[in-house]
Amino acid sequence: MTCTKCGEEFELDDGKPGYANICPNCSVPTPEQKARQLAYADSRHKSLTASQRTNERRRDEERKQDLARGKLGYKKVPGKKFTVREPK
Ligand SMILES: [Zn+2]
Repeated sequence: MTCTKCGEEFELDDGKPGYANICPNCSVPTPEQKARQLAYADSRHKSLTASQRTNERRRDEERKQDLARGKLGYKKVPGKKFTVREPK
């Protein structure tokens, strides 16, 4: 196998992480690349959990509002922003 990055011949190892056509030397990320990848993954993870938490809170809030509406005899109209009073 010839490395597409440096052109060196190398033995292809089945368990090698990374690209199959890049030698082990070239597939090792530099400390800078590693740090950037880690920082990126970390920020992604944080933003994901933050938005997930926001979604959770919003869903919880809506559930509470639905309950309160139900107690007051109000019904949420699906697809509409406003509520209507249910005739009793
Ligand atoms: Zn190489």
